[in-house]
Amino acid sequence: MSKCLKIILEGDFFSNDIRELVIQFFPDYIIKKESKDKADLRITVIRKKSWVNSTVARNGKVVEKFTELTGQNDRRQIKTLVYKTLSEFTGKELKWGTMTGIRPARIAHGKLVEGKKKTLVAYEIQREYGTDNIRTEDLIKIAGLEIERLYPLDKNKIQLYINIPFCPTRCNYCSFITRDAKADSSELEKYLGNLFVEISKVGDFMSQNNFKIESAYIGGGTPGILNCSSTTRLLEKIREKMPVQGVIEYTFEAGRPDTVTEDKLNILKHFGIDRISVNPQSLNEKTLKTIGRSHSADDFYKAYELARKVGFKTINCDMIMGLEGESSADMIRTAESLIALNPENITVHSLSVKKSSYLKNSIYKDNLFNDLEENEAAEDIYRMLKSKSYNPYYIYRQKYTVNNGENIGFSKKGHEGYYNLAIMSDKRSIVGLGAGSTGKIYFPDTDRFERMETVKNIDLYNKNIESIAIEKIKQIKSLTNNIDMI
Ligand code: SF4
Repeated sequence: MSKCLKIILEGDFFSNDIRELVIQFFPDYIIKKESKDKADLRITVIRKKSWVNSTVARNGKVVEKFTELTGQNDRRQIKTLVYKTLSEFTGKELKWGTMTGIRPARIAHGKLVEGKKKTLVAYEIQREYGTDNIRTEDLIKIAGLEIERLYPLDKNKIQLYINIPFCPTRCNYCSFITRDAKADSSELEKYLGNLFVEISKVGDFMSQNNFKIESAYIGGGTPGILNCSSTTRLLEKIREKMPVQGVIEYTFEAGRPDTVTEDKLNILKHFGIDRISVNPQSLNEKTLKTIGRSHSADDFYKAYELARKVGFKTINCDMIMGLEGESSADMIRTAESLIALNPENITVHSLSVKKSSYLKNSIYKDNLFNDLEENEAAEDIYRMLKSKSYNPYYIYRQKYTVNNGENIGFSKKGHEGYYNLAIMSDKRSIVGLGAGSTGKIYFPDTDRFERMETVKNIDLYNKNIESIAIEKIKQIKSLTNNIDMI
């Protein structure tokens, strides 16, 4: 059961960095800020012009460290000093060291692109961030894969994301804006009509201006809730309007196994879908009921077998670490069962509890999770997958994960999801269509990107579809300066 650790940060230098470190050093605690006289743990940072001092104190135990500031990167130096102080205080080292960014492979990517050898990149990353050998090696492999697949950079190569924000039921951890497909069937039809308008307008513009879709991803929500007729209409519209002729990967997130039928899978195959996600999240029946999924473990196995029978190049299965009521043994059993099926991709998520989920209140009220145990299970699963030739090909870290864990896409060699590689690298434009979709426009010349957001509220999306489409076109148009402004 999680306990509460009340902390006071004195000095308040880069307090977010320090708080993130505290969360990782004390994974079995819920961290709360407290006043000096009531705090259990006191962290003090004193910074002068040329030096900085860090002290960690709790229950009479005090560890103090000091370093001279070089003036080159005070923020990183202070973070490293606090890391070392916490490390000595707790007797622990963190697998990620001081690396707390959302996409850790970016650092390795940047260094490799500068032309540095892998051994030098490994040395620099470990010196600068203190990551362990496993993480360092994986980051360099992921960055190497990104560079191999995505270069030379090309502003006309676009990834397409289509959002279907409807689901059969709402999972208790869900933070997406998603509607009940059965209750809102007329809403679904109305939404599709507007989505087709957006696909048509944006697709026409892209086709006429030499943009090419490299990979496409239909996600949600649960796109699998579309019946055969709607699935066909959607895929026909994409084929008719979007420049998808040379697409190298086409993913459909069937998601919930209870939405998978053989007829629908045949339609997907017919339209060139070659990567499909069938996601149990857990194969523990009790957990599936607790989290509000309307399917059983058996439904998942049947859906998986159907997908195999119909024949897709790549099948992905998602699982989540830290679901309500799950023990580490439950999580390991789910991972073992997935490995036994031998899908090409297995994605391991860490539960992220966001404000808009049903779970948000109960997690803090009832202390549902044992983070320490879950961290150990995550490491066991990481090792297990790697020993079965599943290698990480993307890693990202979210805020508010219960164990401060990562989301990791594992893949058999040659099946690494291109869309995921592209989106994680920040080296490709992603055009997101549909309510709640996100995307970005990447400018290779200046190595920067601009976000592309779409309103989450489905009613507002329906109401403003014309202006939404115009705005998207303007953003895509900004990629080139030799096209007339609309
Ligand atoms: S399937 Fe995904 S989008 Fe739908 S309710 Fe569950 S978590 Fe949310």
